[in-house]
Amino acid sequence: MGHIYKYNCICGYETEAHIGAGLQGVNLDLIGRYFPKDREIIVSNRQDIKKFILKNALVKCDKCKKIFVLPCLEYEYNSEEIIKKGECPTCKGIVDICHDIDDVTCPKCNQFMIRELIGHWD
Ligand SMILES: [Zn+2]
Ligand SMILES: [Zn+2]
Repeated sequence: MGHIYKYNCICGYETEAHIGAGLQGVNLDLIGRYFPKDREIIVSNRQDIKKFILKNALVKCDKCKKIFVLPCLEYEYNSEEIIKKGECPTCKGIVDICHDIDDVTCPKCNQFMIRELIGHWD
């Protein structure tokens, strides 16, 4: 189950983020839609892959000055933790994953943002 958070900044910037993994997190068709090469690795090495999950990660694009969620694929292969993330859908640039979702600074003004849990999603 994923969480829905609302992030607020005193400058007025606010956004809602569906973070985490839903029921589709282990759906290989869905994984293939975002990460076709990694899906192949998972399917052909199924016995060596300890875990895999597609989840929504909170990311920040410095160029677009926005925070939003992107599908990220996490799996373990050859005792290596692999994290694959997409690119910014707007500028096609590289985004930074916010690993600590409680410590997020505003993409507009760089101040600490208030996080509020407003719901759950499947
Ligand atoms: Zn961008
Ligand atoms: Zn701000």
